[in-house]
Amino acid sequence: MKGISLERVSYQYQTNTSAGGKTALHNVTLHISPGEFIALIGKTGSGKSTLIQHLNGLLRPTEGNCFFDGENIWEKNFDKKVLRQKVGLCFQYPEYQIFEETVLKDIAFGPQNLGFGKIESEAKARHAMEVMGLDEKLEGVSPFSLSGGQKRRVALAGVLAMEPEYLILDEPLAGLDYPGKEKLFEILHFLNEKKGISIVIVSHNMNEAAAHAKRVIAMENGSVRMDGKPEEIFVKKDELKKMGLNVPDVVRFYMDVRERFNLSTALKEDSVPLTQRQLAKWLCKILEENKNGRNSG
Ligand code: ADP
Repeated sequence: MKGISLERVSYQYQTNTSAGGKTALHNVTLHISPGEFIALIGKTGSGKSTLIQHLNGLLRPTEGNCFFDGENIWEKNFDKKVLRQKVGLCFQYPEYQIFEETVLKDIAFGPQNLGFGKIESEAKARHAMEVMGLDEKLEGVSPFSLSGGQKRRVALAGVLAMEPEYLILDEPLAGLDYPGKEKLFEILHFLNEKKGISIVIVSHNMNEAAAHAKRVIAMENGSVRMDGKPEEIFVKKDELKKMGLNVPDVVRFYMDVRERFNLSTALKEDSVPLTQRQLAKWLCKILEENKNGRNSG
């Protein structure tokens, strides 16, 4: 089966205490298919970072198995280098890992490390720069002289230059200003919809998860507690609250208005609006119904 699979994966960090290691993942089973756009949510310490490091073989499960396109990635003859190329992992604040003296060199480092020659690596780097909206004039510039948003895009271009099929990003929007966030989401949607790259973002921001992801995976204490479409997950306000998570602003507004005015007009059974546009559409429908009711009465 195409994709990344975790099968009953548990992971324990080794510590020096006599109490033994800390169990950071507990019996996690999930499958990520080509072309998905997933938000991985959960409060701090719920196991999100530990989970994503299993997806490209950075961590080896204490129990259970990880597969890529049906092959066990921990089998002796499985090529980890190919896995790291196909599953690009971008840590929080990736710009801190920038180290080369020019933007082009920094972005070309990944493909060169995979064994591509200088010319081919630079061609891949230039293409990644274009996708990331980085002007070619920046090629010879020191990455350290760039703005925060640009540096983030240089770091992401470095991952993209390796031409991954899956792009896994830990809090990719943290610390960016509004235009920086908008630009990055635009790029992520382009990569997902036009290039068919699967995107997994770890996010603390429920508004962003609701507005952008097609699937939401919610974690608590190292376990996957929910896995489904955002409109199915974000309707579960009380369960999310127990997990230390809130619902997106539009969902809260929708629920408050429905409750306050005792409205029965739902979008669909067990569904909620995920964007301001959907919320506005629902409100207009309510107001229209109300107006017609009054006119006919
Ligand atoms: P999240 O990304 O959701 O914040 P993590 O995967 O970082 O969660 O952490 C899951 C659990 O594992 C937490 O209890 C955390 O304290 C613990 N943990 C994370 N990294 C280490 C480590 N290097 N050594 C020991 N425990 C760790």
